[in-house]
Amino acid sequence: MKKLTPMMQQYMDIKNKYQDTLLLFRLGDFYELFFEDALTAARELEITLTGRDCGMEERAPMCGVPHHSVDSYIDRLITKGYKVAICDQVEDASQAVGIVKRDVVRIITPGTIIDTKLLEEKKNNYLMSIFGDERGWGIAYVDISTGETFSTEITGENLESKLLDEIGKVQPKEIIYYTDLEKVKDLKDFSLEKKFSLVVHPQPQWCYEEEYAIGQLKGQFNVMALDGLGFHTSHLGIHATGGLIDYLSTTQKRFLSHINKINVYHISETMVLDLTTRTNLELTETIRSRSKKGSLLWVLDKTQTAMGGRMIRKWIEEPLLNPIKINQRLDAVEALKDDLLLRQELKEYLKNVYDLERLAARISFGSANPRDLVALENSIQQLPSIKQLLTSQKGLIENLYHHLDCLEDIGSLIKRAIVEDPPLTLKDGGIIQKGYNQEVDMLQRATTEGKEWIATLEGEEKEKTGIKNLKVGFNKVFGYYLEVTKSYLKLVPDSYQRKQTLANCERFITPELKEMESKILGAEEKVMVLEYQLFIEIREKIAKEVQRIQKTASSIAELDALFSLAEVAAENQYVKPQVNNEGKINIKEGRHPVVEKMLDHEMFITNDSIMDHKNHQISIITGPNMAGKSTYMRQVAVIILMAQIGSFIPAEEATIGIVDRIFTRVGASDDLSQGQSTFMVEMSEMANILNCATANSLLILDEIGRGTSTFDGLSIAWSVIEHISNNVKAKTLFSTHYHELTELEGKITGVKNYRISVKEEGEDIIFLRKVIEGSADKSYGIQVARLAGLPKEVINRANDILLQLEENDIAKVEIDPTAQAREVAATYDSESSNATDDTNITTDTSVTLDTIATSITPQQLDFNSMLQQSILDDLKEINLLETTPIEALNKLAQLQKKLSQFPQGGK
Ligand code: ATP
Repeated sequence: MKKLTPMMQQYMDIKNKYQDTLLLFRLGDFYELFFEDALTAARELEITLTGRDCGMEERAPMCGVPHHSVDSYIDRLITKGYKVAICDQVEDASQAVGIVKRDVVRIITPGTIIDTKLLEEKKNNYLMSIFGDERGWGIAYVDISTGETFSTEITGENLESKLLDEIGKVQPKEIIYYTDLEKVKDLKDFSLEKKFSLVVHPQPQWCYEEEYAIGQLKGQFNVMALDGLGFHTSHLGIHATGGLIDYLSTTQKRFLSHINKINVYHISETMVLDLTTRTNLELTETIRSRSKKGSLLWVLDKTQTAMGGRMIRKWIEEPLLNPIKINQRLDAVEALKDDLLLRQELKEYLKNVYDLERLAARISFGSANPRDLVALENSIQQLPSIKQLLTSQKGLIENLYHHLDCLEDIGSLIKRAIVEDPPLTLKDGGIIQKGYNQEVDMLQRATTEGKEWIATLEGEEKEKTGIKNLKVGFNKVFGYYLEVTKSYLKLVPDSYQRKQTLANCERFITPELKEMESKILGAEEKVMVLEYQLFIEIREKIAKEVQRIQKTASSIAELDALFSLAEVAAENQYVKPQVNNEGKINIKEGRHPVVEKMLDHEMFITNDSIMDHKNHQISIITGPNMAGKSTYMRQVAVIILMAQIGSFIPAEEATIGIVDRIFTRVGASDDLSQGQSTFMVEMSEMANILNCATANSLLILDEIGRGTSTFDGLSIAWSVIEHISNNVKAKTLFSTHYHELTELEGKITGVKNYRISVKEEGEDIIFLRKVIEGSADKSYGIQVARLAGLPKEVINRANDILLQLEENDIAKVEIDPTAQAREVAATYDSESSNATDDTNITTDTSVTLDTIATSITPQQLDFNSMLQQSILDDLKEINLLETTPIEALNKLAQLQKKLSQFPQGGK
């Protein structure tokens, strides 16, 4: 029987242990993939698939990538969501007996990237671990490129939506999990991959078991008991963190000392924002192009460092709820804003601080190169000046002053040990500074002296031999040589030994030259090894101080984020809001921070907003399309959110009562990929809002109900407003084209009508963008359609229909005579072809009217005619041939009930 070759057997043994990865198997200068892995990699990386004799009948499919460029291939596989296992030789080939030992040294997954081009500078790369049982969810997540680790638990009601909110906030790249929940056995049921573009890997139960998890936590955070870690109220978090640490050790295969602190938090400490709201308010990216430009982050991020960039993003994603903490930030921003000079100087120093968090992580991971250490030293140089600038500050900045460790010892070690401009590579020498190590100095001296000796040799030999163009050269194959052109060959002394003949010249060596060469090369080789060893020692020494570097990094990050808010406030004339817990919102002359920046030629028109729990609980906003309803509502939400992250705001002045959640239901966001219709999405989002909102929430509801028939839509909108007023009691901005809803002012307490003003000029309308009390009397839909470029004949005809609708009711609208003529012709055709599908045109006026009715905008129908139309529709749908008398009676009863639902009774 045929057997696998020993090498392939070794491959198989390793691959069996790492089934769910693509195994990159080191063979010489290549990383090779075999069998299924080879087929996958060849397809994904577009590299050639070959084969290798493996001892069996058929050759093993194989493909490979050169070891020096493996990183870029790994990046591509990771981006596509694969896990990649790196299998290297783990013993020196020269020492090996038989086949060289190989083993997996690291598994790279989308959530465990530490130092590749895949990391975004100002964005964290999180791996999230989730544990679920009947009590709720435990969550833990880590960015291994910075060491930041967090944990929380979710219990109580609406468990699933709270979990999705948290995932939406953290935006991990990879989720690992175990769930014991009867209802949710598999997190894949939540379509997380599609919703959040991440990868999800289930884990075995034992990784999440309590006892095992506790052991993992104690080991990682170096504690005897968990008491000091903050898990008292987050028991489920222990399971999740245990699973997380287990995954890190199986994938990274080393102890990650930079993960040494865990931040256990409660989800109630920060404002909860669901994914829809984050998306709708365009907090970190725009809806349309998913770019940072055009988002709130784009406006607020003037940070100078990568750490600060990640911090400001986090602040935007987690607005605070505690007015004391918010006001501390606001005071710090104010202090920085008011001191232009301080800000300017700070900017200069911050600019030169590299990503200390990621440098620290690479140092303790053992992947930092000499340039990383120089970058660390350059950053450390800035710290004393930064600290000096903070000397006489108060509050938060004073705290930062005290926490800022200037890391002088680390800086001076690097300065003494590493040259200013070292190479990227570790093994080619040229790293260690003169004076740091005697042996390196001595070897380097030997090399330089030897090289100088060789340099003078050229002149001496020229003189001795009379060969005017004699040259000393070096190449890797022959080492040093003396080169003589053909015309001078006769002058070559006997002591020269011929080594190489070229077209125009010959190369010689002498015993002295060879002796010096071996001295130089020996010294060079030694110095390279020694420099490498010394570098590793220095890196390990700094790795022991990684916690200090991390602490300084987080102070710098916070300072930079505060600086950024101050800079933005000064640049854009923002003001400090009064933030309290009194439940009122009063914004004077507010602006939308992003829209005002995007306007090229127009001025942004400011608007006031008042909201409270008494007379201004629900604002019903009417106005033509394009008038600015959505902008206004988002503006209010964004200003509140900015205030709660501690930012100044675009307004003249404002009082902001803390809001616990912001919910938005904006526009028609199709979720067809999830198999839901536009209307279904709208309604399920609305259901979520009504279930989760509290009296302290802010609801932004943009044209609720427009995704269905006018009649149903209006009824839903109406009853949603009633429900909010009676039960939820949240402050609400509600924009609508159903003018009928403005009737609710005065009938439901707290409902107030607002309209966005426009001015008519002939056929045109001018958008004034001012929000004023009262309700809009007209919709101007047709004017806006004209502005949008709808064909002239469509606009004219629409105006006709509108006029007739306003005078009569829908059943009396006359059909366009030219359309009628076409219909007669079409009927004639259709009769002759005997076709019956509903794309056929018919002269049946009721059907044609129906078509018109569905194309008419809601506000153009009055309530009675809508009711009539709906009943007519129902009647028309009854198939008399298939209806029993009882069913007919039931249907009649339903229709009567429908009529009695409204006071007008449809008469
Ligand atoms: P629709 O009902 O069709 O959704 P809308 O009333 O919600 O329209 P918006 O989308 O808010 O209108 O605004 C349309 C455009 O008007 C915005 O893109 C913006 O350029 C401009 N705009 C809105 N508000 C203002 C303002 N206060 N000042 C200046 N321009 C504004």
